[in-house]
Amino acid sequence: MTTTAVAAAAHDGAHILIFPYPAQGHMIPLLDLAHQLATRGLTITVLVTPRNVPLLKPLLSKHPSITPFVLPFPAHPALPAGVENVKDLPPNGFRPMMSVLGELQDPIFHWFQSHPSPPEAIISDMFLGWTQHLACRLGIRRFVFSPSGAMALAVIYSLWRAMPKRDDPNEENHLVPFPDIPSSPVYPWWQLSPIYRSYLEGDPVSEFIKDGFRADMASWGLVINSFDELERVYLEYLLKQLGNDRVWAVGPLHPPDDEDRSKPSERGGSSSVLASKIFSWLDTCGDRTVVYVCFGSQAVLTNHQMEELASGLEKSGDRFIWSVKNPTKGHVGGEYGAIPCGFEDRVAGRGIVIRGWAPQVAILKHRAVGAFLTHCGWNSVLEGLVAGVPMLAWPMGADQFSNATLLVDELKVAVRVCEGEKTVPNSDELGRAVREVVGVDGERVGTRVRAMELQKAALTAIKEGGSSCNNLNRLVRVLSKETFQGGK
Ligand code: UDP
Repeated sequence: MTTTAVAAAAHDGAHILIFPYPAQGHMIPLLDLAHQLATRGLTITVLVTPRNVPLLKPLLSKHPSITPFVLPFPAHPALPAGVENVKDLPPNGFRPMMSVLGELQDPIFHWFQSHPSPPEAIISDMFLGWTQHLACRLGIRRFVFSPSGAMALAVIYSLWRAMPKRDDPNEENHLVPFPDIPSSPVYPWWQLSPIYRSYLEGDPVSEFIKDGFRADMASWGLVINSFDELERVYLEYLLKQLGNDRVWAVGPLHPPDDEDRSKPSERGGSSSVLASKIFSWLDTCGDRTVVYVCFGSQAVLTNHQMEELASGLEKSGDRFIWSVKNPTKGHVGGEYGAIPCGFEDRVAGRGIVIRGWAPQVAILKHRAVGAFLTHCGWNSVLEGLVAGVPMLAWPMGADQFSNATLLVDELKVAVRVCEGEKTVPNSDELGRAVREVVGVDGERVGTRVRAMELQKAALTAIKEGGSSCNNLNRLVRVLSKETFQGGK
């Protein structure tokens, strides 16, 4: 019997409420965690709003026992009807989205009270800090789920604890040091979390968000999508800061059955191109000769950025797959996301442009992929590491600057090619960087060797007996009924 099977058999299927934040980059790993917990025998209810129900499809088909709990999305004057996921948000919609979800507290409380056997714990996203207050009202434990890595979370928590300010409110380059965090990172103001930068003292939404992050820090436990061998010093730092031993690094979380290339898992969305078309093209390419380009589930480039990137890919002479997100309602004026005229004809046979959702995990794992040009979203980072692919880093926002610090300056598995969501890269430099990392030259830069080492560490962590697998089993025991009845 494996230790995972022992973990599954060792308790009586405690009931857990999982509550993801409605953004693909947040939902994907927490649903992957739900899969791991259900595999280990826990009873899982997942809370979503109606328009996000389709995102549960792969999880529910794997685990028919998981119960969706669907609550209507609360109305908000700043959010047009129909917006229930970050990818559909209008500009500046992120803050209202975070605060309006807090209105679900009473409906959830009443649901608990009328449920014949309600959940004994809540695992909810770090953007839902108010669920800590809900858990206190219900007298149960709340575990924060961090879809960000430990270094990024250390920076986020430090910001909301210390609340650093700028002397000059217009100085975007004002340097903010984090002397307590291992490696003492320093970031210019513009690279800090946009949620933090938009904090206004006394403003109700700002205060609600600040209270949420502080409630995260006061929560009973922290489950984090990282692994000991990758971020040990930052995990130890978090343990020290939180003042308890209730931090579980359980990553890299990964989709169920992600090995089947003919039917890549619908992780966060269904592919907008025929997967068979992509993979039969990749099959014709030599080992590690293709660069995969994708900036996550949300980032849409300006047309100027698109031109330079396209030109950089052309100049590199390398093969590529480029996943391009379509502009949303917020991207007005036709200035976003246009593929330069004639580009696709010029690169026919050498590159594929995917408009919409790409089967990223499966693409990265193909032997032909030799580099990943990424915005350094944490899921993408972990997927790149699991695939053993060196990266070209173009952090744009959120926690991506600290992720880039980790990848480029500490782990040396990536090279930095651009920084900032508005910055336009230089196509010559970009083409050169791609050439250096992909293909034969990749050996010289050293990133490929590091990528292979980190791949080994990641795969070992999630294997039976590995650190993350052991942490998951420990977490399941803590979540189980016997432990709850025994107190902490
Ligand atoms: N993703 C995908 N296909 C796409 C774009 C994104 O499968 O075309 C997935 C990707 O594999 C990752 C997630 O969406 O799991 C994006 O999360 P990440 O943290 O990298 O970035 P975010 O979208 O949060 O900025």
